[in-house]
Amino acid sequence: MSTTQQNPAGPSSVTNLEQARERRARALLDRRDELARRWAQALSHNRPDADDLAYEIAVVEEGISKADPSTFDALFREWIVADASRLHEPGTMTGSCVMCDVARGGVA
Ligand SMILES: [Zn+2]
Repeated sequence: MSTTQQNPAGPSSVTNLEQARERRARALLDRRDELARRWAQALSHNRPDADDLAYEIAVVEEGISKADPSTFDALFREWIVADASRLHEPGTMTGSCVMCDVARGGVA
């Protein structure tokens, strides 16, 4: 007879819960960063999907705020500065913008 059944309320489940929470927060932060990069490029090039991306960012930020309020509070101002620094005039070629690279013919 096997006695290897684990207690789901054991000490390790608390750790697993915490790790799952951190993984989820990390995934949301990565998702926000990717959306913000795409949003800045879309807005800089006057593309209509900028509004949709801004909405998606707001949804992800709300998720971060609920999952990890202290991280949200710590990063919110950094996001604003980082997002603003990613914006550029459409005619200005930058090395970090996919749409600028395409316009420049660099991706060929
Ligand atoms: Zn660009």
